Amino acid sequence: MTPSSRFLRPPSRPALGLRTRLTLSYVLLFGVVMTSIGLTFHQALSVIFYQQAERLLDGEWHALKGFLRARDTELVWAYDPEHPEEAFTVDRLRRVFLLTDPQGEVVEMSNGYASIGRESPETVRRVLETGQQVTVKRTGAKGETYMVRMGPYGAGGRTYFVAIGLPVSETERVPSRMLAVYAIAAPVMLLAIAVLGWFAAGRALSPLMRVVEAARTVSGGNLSLRIEPLGTGDELDQLIETFNGMMERLEANFEQMKRFSVDASHELRTPLTAIRGQLEVAMLTARSMEDFRRAITTALEDVERLGRIVQSLLQLAQAETGQIRLNRQPEMLAEIAARQVAQFQPLAARKRIELRLLAPEPCLASVDRLQMERLVDNLLSNAIKYTQEGGRVEVRLREENGDAVLEVADNGPGIPEHHLPHIFEKFYRVREGERTAGRGVGLGLAFVRWIARAHGGTVQVRSRVGEGTTFEVRIPLGGEVARTETVGASR
Ligand code: ADP
Repeated sequence: MTPSSRFLRPPSRPALGLRTRLTLSYVLLFGVVMTSIGLTFHQALSVIFYQQAERLLDGEWHALKGFLRARDTELVWAYDPEHPEEAFTVDRLRRVFLLTDPQGEVVEMSNGYASIGRESPETVRRVLETGQQVTVKRTGAKGETYMVRMGPYGAGGRTYFVAIGLPVSETERVPSRMLAVYAIAAPVMLLAIAVLGWFAAGRALSPLMRVVEAARTVSGGNLSLRIEPLGTGDELDQLIETFNGMMERLEANFEQMKRFSVDASHELRTPLTAIRGQLEVAMLTARSMEDFRRAITTALEDVERLGRIVQSLLQLAQAETGQIRLNRQPEMLAEIAARQVAQFQPLAARKRIELRLLAPEPCLASVDRLQMERLVDNLLSNAIKYTQEGGRVEVRLREENGDAVLEVADNGPGIPEHHLPHIFEKFYRVREGERTAGRGVGLGLAFVRWIARAHGGTVQVRSRVGEGTTFEVRIPLGGEVARTETVGASR
């Protein structure tokens, strides 16, 4: 396994922390939103002001018609100079005013208009040719801007060219000023958002930091560590729950491993101590060849037992790491069960145990025959071993919901409830005395579980103290699959 394959996804190390990146994202987002709002507002305001100026200019043009009259072939201002309102209006109209003859010769030009420069004879001709009014923008000598309406003006059969202007510098400056104010205010607001974002991100991420802190302190010694859920049900809460769940599994596995190490060393030490004792006693006390032979024979039996334990351990390790290949063939499970029951009859008879098989259906399944035999063998030998003389053991096989259900039931001593979750662990034994009694090495049920799982099935135990124990194995039915595969036991 290469180091990188241990990660679900190759970790790309970000240069900035999550909090900083979140804050920057807020600021960027707000920056973009505020800039577009500012620009849109500026644009809208400019359009509104332009339209307003155009409307004002419309009004001025109409007012012009009321005061500029034809007298013979000339155009004259007709108003009452004594009338303050009329005088004021005419005064306003003449402030930026140009009147020329069709050739562009100036008839009247106000100082205001002079500052933007009279219209060229070209412009005059063009406007008069089209006969339409046009609105243009003109800039004065000092940079001030005017909106100018120009058009033909008929009087006494002659057509004049008239232009009036409206100063719009001030109006135009408003949107730009607003944008300038906005450009100063926006960074201040962004700064405030950055500060707020920094605190908000910190608050949002603080549960994450708790997980990080907790994960950092995890070691073999404090696997009982859990983080209190927030109770919000959000993603962070789920993370905490997932973390706690992972710790729970880790703790259970670690405890199991610890128990296994203790049990395994105990299992291996017991026969070793016995061998040593027997040989030492023989060395000191044996007098004849016969005495030595006896001592060596007993020692050899223990060596054999040691060998069996080591062999089984090795096989289980291979099974659990996926190194054992299942040779699956369509098999009648009823036949396998019948053969095993027949094999155990003599042993059962010796303990006056009534051993029965109930298998009304053939139960065709794709299984590794040797492994299935081993599974039935382990369950049956346990049932007979732990059931008292005169007891009863029943092997039942039936089909149910697409599964073959194999039950090995006895009316033996039963297993106390608190032992049941551990019964399939390696070397786990219910009663201490069993360590030396019988010939089991305490790995039988671990094998049963692996075999059931390797076939895509399950194994369960039901037991009541004083009433008996039933092991139930479920294997998917179906004989069409015939293949060889490697299967590791999942936990
Ligand atoms: P062993 O080699 O000790 O039989 P197993 O893994 O097969 O190891 O079984 C583990 C323990 O489960 C046994 O030591 C025994 O205490 C308990 N056990 C298994 N089967 C039965 C049963 N049929 N009745 C009562 N106890 C059982």
